[in-house]
Amino acid sequence: MVVSADEYHRRTAITRLSVSADDESLLRETVSAWQRGCQIAVDKAWQQCRSKSDIQSLAYDTIRENTSLASQHAILACHQAAGNIKSCLARKQDGKKASKPTYTSPTVAYDSRTMTLFPDREQVSLTTHGDHARVQADLVLPDDADGYQYQYFNSDQWEPTESTLHYRDGHWYLHLGFRKPKTTEPTTENGTVLGVDLGVNEIAVTSTARFFSADRLNHTRREFERVRGDLQDYGTRNAHRTLEAVSGREDEHVKHVLHSVANGIVAEALRYNCDGIIFEELDDIRNRLPDAAWHSEWAFNRLYEYVTYKADASGLFVATTAPQHTSNRCAECGFVSDVNRPTRDTFECSRCGNRNHADYNAAKNIANAYLRREQQSSRGRGVSQYALKSGVVMPDRGYLPYSDAPVAEPTDKPKPVQANS
Ligand SMILES: [Zn+2]
Repeated sequence: MVVSADEYHRRTAITRLSVSADDESLLRETVSAWQRGCQIAVDKAWQQCRSKSDIQSLAYDTIRENTSLASQHAILACHQAAGNIKSCLARKQDGKKASKPTYTSPTVAYDSRTMTLFPDREQVSLTTHGDHARVQADLVLPDDADGYQYQYFNSDQWEPTESTLHYRDGHWYLHLGFRKPKTTEPTTENGTVLGVDLGVNEIAVTSTARFFSADRLNHTRREFERVRGDLQDYGTRNAHRTLEAVSGREDEHVKHVLHSVANGIVAEALRYNCDGIIFEELDDIRNRLPDAAWHSEWAFNRLYEYVTYKADASGLFVATTAPQHTSNRCAECGFVSDVNRPTRDTFECSRCGNRNHADYNAAKNIANAYLRREQQSSRGRGVSQYALKSGVVMPDRGYLPYSDAPVAEPTDKPKPVQANS
């Protein structure tokens, strides 16, 4: 049976590589040969043709003559150019600008002929350029066995497919692509989303009960404020310059923390097999948290942006939803009341008695609100449930534990609704 590209589920597992100094220079040379190869392909094909095979017959020989790319990589460079030209044409059709691509980012594409994954040895072998041997590199994976990457290794269902090598901040990373055929079960109707609540004490809390604390950010903010206060007291031009440098360092630090939170949110979505990540609309967060202490609006925007591109690289969608009583609705019985919040961090339902962390309760409500709208939408994304740590919830059908779940946490498990309330 021929399976077309659309008949696969696709996921990406990102891992750092441990590369020796010799291999490192081979990979660098491969990167520049790859950039030249893609550029040749796009220069030749631009406004001429767009299909992989047409570009290949037009550019393959020139790539082989003018770069050190091995044959399969010359073919992949033509495919890369084809993909980029197609997206330029699509942008133009949407009335947007699209200029001819240039290849400057330090990446190389791989496929099953140029890359071999040895999951049990946690190693990969990569074709380099010219007649050079392949490079063997160790995958630097999380120590704990529940790194989300492991679920794709040694799996009967997931097979390695197109992947990309990246060089970033002095390290090599492999974005390992995996795919599995879509089965005949209606997967488009039981897709899963992860709800995420953004806040001040916890930057983010997921519907799977993962908490990303804002302590580090708030602490740094206080430290930087203290330094700034001291500097302002001096009032000299020198102090002013130092002040600007300090603010720059603070932004860098905040971005660094937000990147790691974004990675954590995407990893959480992958761990629970979600198809999408749902946030509340940013305008509404601003209204709900009028006294947010740090640059929350800036930080939330950044976090949303980081999650969006990291999720996209992993084949997940990101969407926002307008709030529906995000903070004062009981996620377990649906009761809405303002007396549900005895303290800022605690949610306690006055109808069913559900007591929970307020942000965690909100994360479930955000997912729930999105799914409700999905059901009414004619062009939905085919998601119908949201992920908890111990199971999934369908807004109109309720809670279903994972078949392989250990024991459900009491905070996770919706109680039956009281008929008389
Ligand atoms: Zn309740």
